Amino acid sequence: MSREGVDVTIYEKEAKGGGLMTYGIAAYKVTPEFCEDEVNYITSLGGIDIKYGQELGKTVSLADLQANYDAVYFGIGVGIARQLNIPGEDLVGVEDAIRFIYDIREKGYPSIPVGDKVAVIGLGMTAIDAATQAKRLGAKEVTIIYRRTQAEMPSTEVELNLAKLDGCTLIWLASPKEIIGENGKVTQLICNVMELSVPDTSGRRSPVETGETITLNVDMVIKAAGQVPYEELVSSNQLKHRNGRVAIDSHCATNIPASLPVVIA
Ligand SMILES: Cc1cc2nc3c(=O)[nH]c(=O)nc-3n(C[C@H](O)[C@H](O)[C@H](O)COP(=O)(O)OP(=O)(O)OC[C@H]3O[C@@H](n4cnc5c(N)ncnc54)[C@H](O)[C@@H]3O)c2cc1C
Repeated sequence: MSREGVDVTIYEKEAKGGGLMTYGIAAYKVTPEFCEDEVNYITSLGGIDIKYGQELGKTVSLADLQANYDAVYFGIGVGIARQLNIPGEDLVGVEDAIRFIYDIREKGYPSIPVGDKVAVIGLGMTAIDAATQAKRLGAKEVTIIYRRTQAEMPSTEVELNLAKLDGCTLIWLASPKEIIGENGKVTQLICNVMELSVPDTSGRRSPVETGETITLNVDMVIKAAGQVPYEELVSSNQLKHRNGRVAIDSHCATNIPASLPVVIA
């Protein structure tokens, strides 16, 4: 938009730009300097003002933005960690992977506590980042738990090998069932042993429980089972959505009428 001669103001809730690239991806993959350079490169185009520490829904409202701008663009990402919805999730020692990585990037390695025996749930990029970071922080054992097999994993082979090179181990075909604790702190993770069903019409094989379980002794569980959109923020602003994903038309306009400043996502 700046290149088209439009003045742009960005409202960013954090103190730095770059989003997940700056806060959510482990620094061994994308350095803070690289993220800063990217943000500086974009703002060097001119006509772009970033207001940091401004959170839509807290310090600024959609009504404020509509009153002050010709158009509002939503680029808030998909930033809420998906919960496992199993017993024991609120025990001390159970962490969200995104929060874990955020804290390491914000506060630095030495200040972030890590367990001795860590289980990481999931096998996407976030899981790999969390597992490698936990190992590099000094965890003696890091076990990645994935409910399907290597053939279905969302992470790349390169990323999987990164985790293996860091000494992380994997348990395939296992899905978390319950987290056990003592004195409020996690001590064990019970997983259902899974098997893959016959392929459905799309050829996809879903994991199903075998009835067997395995129990791991752990003192930290990192949840990396994916992220979900900011559903509450979206619905509280009367935006039509599907499970938090803003509904848009073929021009990327939302349901907010065009007579008001157009809101696009
Ligand atoms: C651990 C991990 C590893 C990844 N590794 C890779 C990789 O190797 N390669 C790759 O291509 N992709 C990777 N990704 C994905 C990539 O980070 C995302 O696809 C990308 O960041 C999405 O960009 P975005 O701008 O849509 O959202 P985000 O990067 O999430 O940016 C959203 C911005 O909106 C801000 N915001 C949110 N809510 C509000 C609010 N209410 N008010 C004001 N500001 C708000 C946020 O602070 C943030 O700055 C990885 C992601 C994760 C989590």
